[in-house]
Amino acid sequence: MKILYHDLQIEITRRCTGDCKHCCRGDQQNLDLTKEEIDALLNYNDIHSVNRLLFSGGNPPLNGEMLE
Ligand code: SF4
Repeated sequence: MKILYHDLQIEITRRCTGDCKHCCRGDQQNLDLTKEEIDALLNYNDIHSVNRLLFSGGNPPLNGEMLE
């Protein structure tokens, strides 16, 4: 099956040092996605087109691997 996304958002970390009242992420966790996991996710789902890819969290800069 061919999958086309207009917007795709990937939560690359569950870590966050914030305490925003409006947060809908729940409790922060010490969990990150790796580059290999993101590649596997995109390949496994047979994605053919993404108009806009957004990396979110948590607080994305806390996933140090993604800053390299
Ligand atoms: S995940 Fe975002 S909204 Fe939630 S506490 Fe952290 S910075 Fe605030």
